[in-house]
Amino acid sequence: MSSNRSEALFAAACKHIPGGVNSPVRAFRGVGGNPIFFSRAQGAYLFDADDNCYIDYICSWGPAILGHAHPDVIREVQEAATLGLSFGAPTEVEVEMADIVCELMPSMDLVRMVSSGTEATMSAIRLARGFTGRDVLVKFEGCYHGHSDSLLVKAGSGALTLGVPSSAGVPASIAQHTITLPYNDLDAVRDYFREHGDKVACIIVEPVAGNMNLIPPRPGFLQGLREVCDQSGSVLIFDEVMTGFRVALGGAQALYGVKPDITTLGKIIGGGMPVGAFGGRRDIMECIAPLGPVYQAGTLSGNPIAMRAGLKTLSLIRQPGFHEQLSARTKALCEGLEAAGRKAGVPISTHHIGGMFGFFFSETPAWSFAEATQGDTEYFKAFFHAMLAEGVYLAPSAFEAGFVSIAHTESDISNTIAAAERALMATRR
Ligand code: PMP
Repeated sequence: MSSNRSEALFAAACKHIPGGVNSPVRAFRGVGGNPIFFSRAQGAYLFDADDNCYIDYICSWGPAILGHAHPDVIREVQEAATLGLSFGAPTEVEVEMADIVCELMPSMDLVRMVSSGTEATMSAIRLARGFTGRDVLVKFEGCYHGHSDSLLVKAGSGALTLGVPSSAGVPASIAQHTITLPYNDLDAVRDYFREHGDKVACIIVEPVAGNMNLIPPRPGFLQGLREVCDQSGSVLIFDEVMTGFRVALGGAQALYGVKPDITTLGKIIGGGMPVGAFGGRRDIMECIAPLGPVYQAGTLSGNPIAMRAGLKTLSLIRQPGFHEQLSARTKALCEGLEAAGRKAGVPISTHHIGGMFGFFFSETPAWSFAEATQGDTEYFKAFFHAMLAEGVYLAPSAFEAGFVSIAHTESDISNTIAAAERALMATRR
């Protein structure tokens, strides 16, 4: 597999781009080596600058649920572009988007569009603070909610991979309002709220944690958070940037039957274009400008091209049977990985929910941040590179979830499992 062009591009990129990448999760810091540069993508496949083909399990970190460059989505984008790129004024497609999002996410009465997941969560916590008149924000260790100051405290994803879960540059006077508790530990939440509940503006949680590998909520965890918020008058925020439309059409809130007060969305809602959204209970959302005193705005918010890409994507994934098929493929992949591990004598355990999965080199999968970070990261590195050589592109970190698209065929899955078997045989110790 040649990598000459990728290597040359990386060297050129390092001249004027910090670390050669525009987002740190793209660097190969968690696995060693240099990142691969890609030139095109189609369906389940990525093609790099040297024209090597990979089966893609990152799916642009979630958005590409239909696979890359779905022809219907591309057509929408092309048509929309001819009508003007951005108006900075209201358009009909924003109305359509708001109606569909509120229909699919039953906890949302009103929704505001933004341009990234970070903007969605940043705005949601400001709103929760403005609504309650309280400052304290409770989050969970290893959960990632974008890179705004208040949320880069004991964060997951690239911050965890790079060993800076609490970023430099966040003033202590801001970080002091962020309380971090262990994910899936309801007792710790109840203990904290017993003492301090009346000061907590909000709990923000990934209802399925996808930024420290994949950790599902323990039975009763999300329900417990709902109860604690109800008792204390705090706002419950589900960060469904990753899980929205992916673990189920109505997100994790539909899957687990728990209604948050505010939901944040991103990734799939933009169909591959830069989009985020936050929405929820009418009385809370009415605090947002221009209706209320909590300010939030965006030059490109509700961008017509992004709306059209998102609307088309949502219309395709709401077809009957879509999520059943996506889940079945993801399940087959996970079962196959476990079987490959048994054959090679390397313990592999997995979690999968809808079109998300995680795997661990241990007999049982992790249920907590502590367990997720105990894994053998050295072995992960070897496995990652062996899979890359086999033409399978996994997230370059042991602390990220994997993503499957509807374009992944049964043979893509079985080829991946066969590749994993060979990779495990080659790397086992
Ligand atoms: N929340 C969650 C749960 C995420 O996974 C991410 C990004 N992976 C974000 C927020 C931030 O989204 P963005 O990168 O679009 O700012």
